Amino acid sequence: MTVEKYAVIGHPIAHSKSPLIHQAFAAQFGKVISYEKILAPLDGFTETVHRLQAESFLGANVTVPFKFEAFNLCNSLSERAQALEAGAVNTLSFLGEGQIRGDNTDGAGLRRDIENNLGFSIAGKRLLMLGAGGAAQGVLGSLLDAAQIVIANRTPGKALPMVAAIRHSLEASASTFEALDQSFDLVINATSAGLTDSKLPIPDCVFTANTLAYDMMYGRDTPFMQQARTAGAQVADGLGMLVEQAAEAFHSWHGLRPQTAPVIKSFRQF
Ligand code: NDP
Repeated sequence: MTVEKYAVIGHPIAHSKSPLIHQAFAAQFGKVISYEKILAPLDGFTETVHRLQAESFLGANVTVPFKFEAFNLCNSLSERAQALEAGAVNTLSFLGEGQIRGDNTDGAGLRRDIENNLGFSIAGKRLLMLGAGGAAQGVLGSLLDAAQIVIANRTPGKALPMVAAIRHSLEASASTFEALDQSFDLVINATSAGLTDSKLPIPDCVFTANTLAYDMMYGRDTPFMQQARTAGAQVADGLGMLVEQAAEAFHSWHGLRPQTAPVIKSFRQF
C-alpha cells in the first residue's frame, strides 16, 4: 500500500503541532498517512515545494513566513483564498501535472472555534481586530456578517487597504491602539505581540463583561489575555483555531471531516 505523504513547511518549524494534529485526525478514520515538518531555507520555499511535488507528496500546509509566497505559486485558488485578495494561503494541494491549488483555512478555523466551540455568534456584532498582518488579513473574509469592524494596528497605514476592501460589506474603520474609545462584543488579537510578552497600548474600555477576547496565539497567557481577564471579559486562546484550521485542510485533502473536540482536549492536557 502506498502511504499518502503530506508536510508542513515553515521557518522556524520545530514548534509545529500540525503533524500530531493531522495524525490524530487520520487515526479517527483508520488512515495511515505520513506528515513531516519541513524547514525550508528563507530563500528556498519554491525549491522545497517543487521537491515535494517530485517526491509525490499530495499536499502541504504552509506557515510563517511563506504564506504569501505560497499564494504566488498556485495555479488555482479556492473561493475563500481569492476573497479580499487575501494574498496568502496556508494549504496546498499538489494535483497532477505540476498543478498546485491553494486554500486559506484560517478564517474558517477561527469562525468554527468561536461559534461552535465557544458558542459565540458573530453575526451582527461589533468587532475589534488588533493587527493587520497575514493572519488578520486571512481571516477577515470570514467575519463580514458582523455589524462593524474596527482594525487597529501598530502601523496604522497597513489597516487602510483592509478597511477599503470590506467597506462595501459592513461598517469598517481603521484606528491606532491608543485612539480606541468604544467597547466591542468580540476583540481578536491577531498581532504577534504576545510572542515577546509585549503589552498592546489598548484602553480597558474596549472590554465589557460580555466581550469575548480571543488571542490567536496559543500555549501562553499573553498580556492581552491578562488585561482582558482583569477587565472582566471572557478570554480564549487560539488553540481551537489551530485545530479547526487543520481540520479544514484535512477535509480539503481527504474529503473527510474529523472530530476536533477530542484533539483540542488532548492538547489542553499537555
Ligand atoms: P505577521 O508577522 O504577518 O503580522 C504581525 C502583526 O503583529 C502585525 O500586525 C504587527 O504590526 C503586529 N505586531 C507584532 N509585534 C507587535 C508589538 N510588539 N506590538 C504591537 N503590534 C505588534 O504575523 P501573522 O499575522 O501571520 O501572525 C500573527 C499571530 O497570529 C501570530 O502570533 C501567529 O502565531 C498567530 N496565528 C495563529 C493561528 C492559529 O491557528 N491559532 C493561525 C495564524 C496565525 P505591524 O504591522 O505594525 O508590524
